[in-house]
Amino acid sequence: SIVVDDVTHSYESLRSGRTDVLDGLSLRIERGDRVALVGPNGAGKSTLMSLFAGLEKPRSGTVTVDGVKTNGTLPETLAEDVVYVRQNPEEMFVADTVRDDIAYYLRERDREGVEERVDEVLSFLDLTALQDRDGRLLSVGQQRRVSLAIGLATEPSIVLLDEPTGSLDLGSRSEVKRTIDRAGDRVETVVIATHDLELIAEWANRVLVLEDGAVVADGSSRSILADGELLARASLRPPQV
Ligand code: ATP
Ligand code: MG
Repeated sequence: SIVVDDVTHSYESLRSGRTDVLDGLSLRIERGDRVALVGPNGAGKSTLMSLFAGLEKPRSGTVTVDGVKTNGTLPETLAEDVVYVRQNPEEMFVADTVRDDIAYYLRERDREGVEERVDEVLSFLDLTALQDRDGRLLSVGQQRRVSLAIGLATEPSIVLLDEPTGSLDLGSRSEVKRTIDRAGDRVETVVIATHDLELIAEWANRVLVLEDGAVVADGSSRSILADGELLARASLRPPQV
């Protein structure tokens, strides 16, 4: 589970001073939840994910992941369990081939059986055809799918996906969605920050609406999707009638 208790967070910069992003936010995400995190640009979705992943330290309050308090770092015992696939997937590509990229992340953890695991992950997510390509040169949709594969290769229990279907054409979007569906079978908890109403309707069982760094709604995807006014506030296109 992920437990956020009374968290306040802000960024400091020399030029613009302090920006308050989260203000006394509390929430609980349970094992088995498929959470869509929605809200307008700048609401604090990516910030919240960075806190979940232990990449940012809250100004005040606590973030607890699987019973362990994180304080801007993930203890080693948790590092393998939490994967955060960021909004810009190209940051994950460091090797000359997709195959080596996946192996690189796996090797951080295991020495034995890496090649077999790479094969398994590639075929599970239908990516074998891309294995010898340079990940840095793939299309954004292909990069998204491979970055998911990299994220899943280490078999985490919590996966955080930041806008996985952003700026994709219809075909790539459905491929990414298929990948998320498959991935979901293996991961206990998935949180997706998204503006994609279709993805929410098809995939999520819970929707958290964030506005100006506060949770303004939290409910089943069915109840939230039925609330046109709320969708408009969250900057999601309400269903056409
Ligand atoms: P989007 O839908 O555009 O991805 P978001 O909900 O993910 O938005 P965040 O990226 O969490 O929003 O940003 C929340 C606020 O924090 C914004 O006002 C943003 O400008 C600010 N912010 C985010 N990262 C930084 C940073 N590294 N330094 C300073 N301000 C930041
Ligand atoms: Mg974001």
